[in-house]
Amino acid sequence: MRRRPPTVPSVTVAPGGRILALSAAWYSDGALRRREARRDRHCVECHSALPTSRTPYCSRICRWKFHGHYFWDAARIYVMRRDRYTCAMCRSRRRARELEVDHIVEIARGGAALEYSNLQTVCRSCHRSKTRAFLASVDRRAGRAQAESP
Ligand SMILES: [Zn+2]
Ligand SMILES: [Zn+2]
Repeated sequence: MRRRPPTVPSVTVAPGGRILALSAAWYSDGALRRREARRDRHCVECHSALPTSRTPYCSRICRWKFHGHYFWDAARIYVMRRDRYTCAMCRSRRRARELEVDHIVEIARGGAALEYSNLQTVCRSCHRSKTRAFLASVDRRAGRAQAESP
C-alpha cells in the first residue's frame, strides 16, 4: 500500500472556493477505512459482503463514490452518473463535458463541499445563471451591510 505523510495541505481549494481534494484525509482516515473493510471483507462504501480481501470495493460505482468523499474529480464523476447526466434545473440530458457539478448550498454559505446530498448535476448555462444570481445576492448583502455601517 502506498503510504505518504500528509505534507500537502489537507484541503485544496480552487478559485471560487471549490474544494478539489481532501487528500490528507485520504491517507489517514481513508486508508484506515479501506484497511478495515478489506479485513472484514465488506465494501467500504455500501457494506455489502465481498468474496475476497483483495479490494475494498464491490463495484466501480462504489469505488468512485468512496474516492469522491476525498477527491472532487471522483465526486464529480459519481454525481453525474447518479443524476443520469441530466441537468437538475432544466432537466435536459447532456454529454458529460457539457455538464458541471454544483453545490446546492454554496460553500460560501456554509454548504458541505464533498457531501453527496449537497451536490447536483447542472448544465453549463443553468450553472452560470445560478452562480450569477448567487453573486448578485452576495453583492446586495454587502451593499446593505455597507449602508448600515456608521
Ligand atoms: Zn459497494
Ligand atoms: Zn440546465
